Amino acid sequence: MVDDLYDCIVIGAGPAGLSASLFLARYLRRTLTFHHNSPRNEYAHGVHGFLGHHGIRPGELLARGRDEVTEHGGLIIEACVTAVEAVARDRFRVFAGEQKVFDARRLVLATGLRDLTPDCPGFREFYGWSVFHCPDCDGYEVKDKRVAVLAHGKNAAGFTENLLTWTRQLTLLTDRGELSSDDRAKLSKLEVAVRTESVVALEGDKSTKQLQRVLFAEGKPLECDALFFNLGTELATDFHETLGCRLDPECGLLWVDDTQQTSVEGVYAAGDITPHSQLAVVAAAEGAKAAIHIHRSLNSQERHI
Ligand SMILES: Cc1cc2nc3c(=O)[nH]c(=O)nc-3n(C[C@H](O)[C@H](O)[C@H](O)COP(=O)(O)OP(=O)(O)OC[C@H]3O[C@@H](n4cnc5c(N)ncnc54)[C@H](O)[C@@H]3O)c2cc1C
Repeated sequence: MVDDLYDCIVIGAGPAGLSASLFLARYLRRTLTFHHNSPRNEYAHGVHGFLGHHGIRPGELLARGRDEVTEHGGLIIEACVTAVEAVARDRFRVFAGEQKVFDARRLVLATGLRDLTPDCPGFREFYGWSVFHCPDCDGYEVKDKRVAVLAHGKNAAGFTENLLTWTRQLTLLTDRGELSSDDRAKLSKLEVAVRTESVVALEGDKSTKQLQRVLFAEGKPLECDALFFNLGTELATDFHETLGCRLDPECGLLWVDDTQQTSVEGVYAAGDITPHSQLAVVAAAEGAKAAIHIHRSLNSQERHI
């Protein structure tokens, strides 16, 4: 049984989804946002580089965002969306919570990414405080420190090289993964040490969340102040598949045009699930952009222009 017809349903209440919802609410659009309380940066101690909010706790930024949306008349429901479908032109159906069904004329997918993380003991204790995945977000925090980089495969050398912006004390840990001879030669030229043994644990001061060393299956532990990892990401949901949204062939994320519309008319996407930089401030900007174009497209239909 369909409860209501909304102008737009936003799935995901991270920076992208909430920013889209805020603008839609300010355009006086009937907007419903689903909030499932597991944003990508829930482990981070602070959001860096978000102008005017640098260092704010991720939970606080989102709580403020939710308040701003509801103060402007937007509706937010805490529930996991389990499925979506296009039922007709300009009518999308969203299934959430206890067999509840909601329809909308437009849809914003803002469900973000999931990081593939190391599975060694100690990781969770330090993640977001002295173990990071994003040099753009936390590179400045490791200036001149001893940094281990856990990565392998074709992106490992480039990812490690990026960190030279902030420190020369870098050691790449491949954890028995692949590293081409060209990449080895490049890293040696840059004076970056490489260790290939299996990583078995991260150790440090759990009360301050300060990493102190990496333990290997064999060989001496590596004393370090921080660790960055680059093990890949995956889309948090597969709603794009049911809807038939095209992926960008280069990065495997959702292709969008200049208005944040996906390859399916009426379905927009914003934030980490689209190509471009994966930053909170970029996600928020894309959410705002999606809202502006959704409002315009609804206006055109309503006013027959
Ligand atoms: C540890 C860490 C630290 C970071 N630090 C920084 C930083 O310092 N500065 C910075 O700019 N960026 C940082 N980032 C990146 C930043 O967090 C992301 O770029 C940003 O969160 C992307 O926003 P988003 O709205 O696209 O996705 P998310 O923030 O991941 O939000 C997605 C939302 O969708 C919801 N959702 C998913 N599936 C469903 C479903 N089925 N039903 C309902 N809801 C659903 C989730 O619960 C979540 O609320 C960091 C990321 C990590 C992992």
